[in-house]
Amino acid sequence: MRTIMKPRVIASAVALAASCARPTPEPTRVATTSSDPGRPPGAAPVNATTQKGIEAGDVNRSVDPCSDFYEYANGTWRAQNPIPEGKPRWSRRGVGREASRQKVRALVQELAAKTDWPAGSPEQLVGDHYASCMDEAAIDAAGISPIAPLLADIDSAKTQADVQRVIRRLHDLGIAAPFGETAAYDNHEPKDFLLNLAAGGLGLPDRDAYLKTEPRFAELRDKYRQHVARVLALGGMPPNATLAAAGGVIALEKRLAEASLDAKTAADPAATEHKTTFAQLKQMAPHIEWDRYFDEARIPREPVNVTEPKFFQQVDKELTTTPVAAWKTYLRWQLLDTASPWLSKAFAEEAFSFKDKTLGGATEMTPRAQRCVELTETLLGEPVGRKYADKYFTPAAKAKAREIANGLLAALKADVSGLPWMAADTKKKALEKLELTSVQLGYPDHWKDLSNVQIRRDAFWANIAQARKFNVDDMRRQMGKPTDRDGWQLPPSSPDAYLDPPLNELVLPAGFLQPPYFDVEATDAVNYGALGSGLAHDMTHAFDATGALIDAMGHMQTWWTDADQREFQNRTQCIMDQYEGYSIEPGVHHQGKLVLNEALGDQAGVHFAYVALKKSMATHPVPMVDGFTPEQQFFLAWAQFRGEAVRIETQRQIVKADPHAVPKFRVIGPLSNLSEFEQAFSCKPGTPMVRRPEQRCVVW
Ligand SMILES: [Zn+2]
Repeated sequence: MRTIMKPRVIASAVALAASCARPTPEPTRVATTSSDPGRPPGAAPVNATTQKGIEAGDVNRSVDPCSDFYEYANGTWRAQNPIPEGKPRWSRRGVGREASRQKVRALVQELAAKTDWPAGSPEQLVGDHYASCMDEAAIDAAGISPIAPLLADIDSAKTQADVQRVIRRLHDLGIAAPFGETAAYDNHEPKDFLLNLAAGGLGLPDRDAYLKTEPRFAELRDKYRQHVARVLALGGMPPNATLAAAGGVIALEKRLAEASLDAKTAADPAATEHKTTFAQLKQMAPHIEWDRYFDEARIPREPVNVTEPKFFQQVDKELTTTPVAAWKTYLRWQLLDTASPWLSKAFAEEAFSFKDKTLGGATEMTPRAQRCVELTETLLGEPVGRKYADKYFTPAAKAKAREIANGLLAALKADVSGLPWMAADTKKKALEKLELTSVQLGYPDHWKDLSNVQIRRDAFWANIAQARKFNVDDMRRQMGKPTDRDGWQLPPSSPDAYLDPPLNELVLPAGFLQPPYFDVEATDAVNYGALGSGLAHDMTHAFDATGALIDAMGHMQTWWTDADQREFQNRTQCIMDQYEGYSIEPGVHHQGKLVLNEALGDQAGVHFAYVALKKSMATHPVPMVDGFTPEQQFFLAWAQFRGEAVRIETQRQIVKADPHAVPKFRVIGPLSNLSEFEQAFSCKPGTPMVRRPEQRCVVW
């Protein structure tokens, strides 16, 4: 899962050391061979035909599960599905991800095929937006006319005040020239929303591209100049004037780049944190008409975060020193640059040839249908996601995922309450943090009101402008309010998920909650094994070395005692030693310190999910399926979900820099510490999947 660290969140990780205490194995479990081991005495057997088990055909039965569970669990699938050309890794998750993208495409196209949806309905917004994007004939015929009114507005500017008026109009559409707004929250008070005023307005990727003298940068600048000139020409400028005009644009951008942070510093949360009151903002950049800016954007005069004060001082200076004519060319270029990919063919091809090919290394333009689906999903994420959820993520699926999440939280709470090594006060704080954990599943609980967004089949650019404006307004509306914990940073149809540590929030969209991670048709054992273990892994990040630095309210403060820290470090040394012992090829082994947090998350994740499953099975028995007991299904589901194939070249990179272990060791690492696994597959002591009792790592 992706961890979102907001621009100004301190992303430091504490390195842990020390050694692991002796494990305290749990009481032995039910035997593995009974027909329905989860069934309480006297309960009726569950009809095995109604629920799906693990992917039985993926199991490599020629391998002993106690010898190599990674190979046993889904070695057959990997043998039959080699990693496709050009991909570094492959798995059923990869297949599921592509299937989910396919579903979004089919859904959007299906909505676009019908033209009589009620006006303003999610169906109409999505369908007509996509249709307008696909109408290339109309787009080509329109040429530059869709943005002509804005270009005329730029042309009419005569004074510095006019220039600022145009900048404000561009900002309404989310065009960050020369600076822009982004949504964030207060680093020290994450429950408060905070608007970022951020540096922007550069056509090249960063400061270096403007300033470095090496030939490759000089070449890039030359190509950029040609590109800007061609776009200005397409935009109606007389061809003999375009190169000089492009030079003027780049000169202004260069001065702004000089006042910008380099890419590395700009990514440092501490370097970009400057909470600024309205009065201070006026002092920092006195020539920017902030009163008008805030009034027209309808934002209250609350403090904002200025990411790069020096940049804003430079903008202020440029407003008084750069001639209005030069500003006009710059703003004309910025508008054309944003709109080009979605204007007529000549614009789109020019944009592709520089932005995607020269800067991005692309070789071919993505097919238009795919680009139009992606744009629709980006701009109208909620309506697309709403339709996606209607079709692919039923209320029953949401309820099941919720039940699992609640079961995990209960298991964590019970465990923390009984931890022998954690101080009573720390436990109290840990329970408080668990209580405030927000797990968002499938789709938001509240949908945004898009009734003011008008989308027409015959007005592509106007549609884009409407949707962009809605998204900008939606962000501005949050100024001065508490951070919206219902607000998602990904659309519900996304195949990705994220963890936001300061908000103590986990978001798993419907596009992510699909096999082999989650399947409402599958047994609880399968869902706890995959989704449960994965979700519990993320929940425990709130209590690892990094999580110990962020309290329940998202404040950056250590809430563990020194003794807790020491005990924790003692116990986690065991995990570091275990992973140091894992090699991907002779002489190349994992670095314990690097993978500790994630390995610990896997260990704890499987443990808590197992505890939660057993608790649930007391009232909701799980049937045998395909000859596998519920316990076996649980461990197989974990291994099938994690058991990706990865090219050796990629594994070498993972070992060097990735905080996660390679899939093989993510699968077997946690299981070989668990007596429950040993019992589920009746493994004998001394087999590779069974670590000796004195070697086993137990933290939670
Ligand atoms: Zn993790």
